[in-house]
Amino acid sequence: MSTLRIAVVKETAGSERRVALDPDGAKRLQALGAQVLVETGAGSAAWFDDEAYAAAGAQLLPRAELLAEADLVLSVGPPADDVLAALRSGQSYLGLLAPLTNPELVRTLTERGVTAISLDGLPRTLTRAQSMDALSSQASVAGYKAVLVAAEHYDRFFPMLMTAAGTSKPAAVLVLGAGVAGLQAIGTARRLGAVVSGYDVRPAAREEVKSLGAKFIELQAGITAAGEGGYARELTAEERQAQQAELADHIARHDIVITTAQVPGRTPPLLVTAATVARMRPGSVLVDLAASRLGGNVEGSVPGETVLTDNGVRVVGAANLPSRMATSASQALSRNMSALVAHLVRDGELVIDLDDEIQRGVVISHRGEVVSPGVAAVVTAAAPAGSAESAESKEGQLS
Ligand code: NAD
Repeated sequence: MSTLRIAVVKETAGSERRVALDPDGAKRLQALGAQVLVETGAGSAAWFDDEAYAAAGAQLLPRAELLAEADLVLSVGPPADDVLAALRSGQSYLGLLAPLTNPELVRTLTERGVTAISLDGLPRTLTRAQSMDALSSQASVAGYKAVLVAAEHYDRFFPMLMTAAGTSKPAAVLVLGAGVAGLQAIGTARRLGAVVSGYDVRPAAREEVKSLGAKFIELQAGITAAGEGGYARELTAEERQAQQAELADHIARHDIVITTAQVPGRTPPLLVTAATVARMRPGSVLVDLAASRLGGNVEGSVPGETVLTDNGVRVVGAANLPSRMATSASQALSRNMSALVAHLVRDGELVIDLDDEIQRGVVISHRGEVVSPGVAAVVTAAAPAGSAESAESKEGQLS
């Protein structure tokens, strides 16, 4: 039996600075009996240098050789074009592939006979899958960083400060959407000394927000929207309007609003209209973690840009915040990756077993077939005629 070779590629998409596996992760995978190959410079943008991987027992290789030798390739996101072109039948590819927004990629990997495995599809509520939950680990980093981004754009103190030069009022921070990212944002803003409120449509969020010492905003409209698997459902048009109208008064009273609301499989819900932004005080800051090309939680937010409105409000379209905390995000991702690989490897070999609940969630394609029913439906819907529209309608979701 030959040794399983697991390769880590250097990310080249946009400004991505994370790496899928850190040197500690390389050690963990070798303990499973695998050989770890790392592309030269793969971790440098996250401050893991080649020497650290070599010291951890990994072999450093240029990209082409690495891909030629790999049985399993680990990456943060979908493969770059040159990586995709080099992949061949029998190889496996593991990353956060966002298969529902990337039907073309799924089709190509499937046609090539590559086993595509995506951490997005993990059954997150399974206790034994929690160490593999990359959506949570990265959302948590994003929630933390969102507060720092807000603080950076806010021209006042967060805490109440009493000095000889006077007393500063604490910043009033409102976090809309109290899932993993939102709760981390609430905790971080509290630690910076702000007065924090939170809101979510899932009733379970109320106690979670309060347990972090924040105030929970109750809407008179009484909208609750618990969906399946702990997620929210999409609101009806009437509910959405009522929510926007009632939230507007709360938003206008806050200095900083951080929005994190998502509904799986849908474009993010619009929570803050342009009219509401226009009511905010000059110097206020909005950070929209849900900003996407098709819109986010804040009307007018642009992913990757900070827009200054006529009334002096900064609207930050937060794009890929985990990449801006590359070291911590990569360490967490590396833990998630190695936990999943440990689950997939039996006696030193990668074993695809679709009877296993975790594997059924994460394995997208295998032996030339799309094996995930949810992804298969999207790939079929995105087939040539009308494909652009079908694919577009899925954009903006997490997985
Ligand atoms: P998410 O990224 O899908 O959404 C973020 C938040 O937005 C959610 O809390 C959602 O309720 C909220 N939201 C959606 N529409 C909204 C609207 N119109 N107005 C206000 N808020 C809205 O969610 P997530 O952070 O991935 O977590 C979703 C759920 O999964 C949570 O209940 C979380 O506790 C749970 N979870 C459980 C586990 C586990 O059991 N191990 C792991 C991860 C997440």
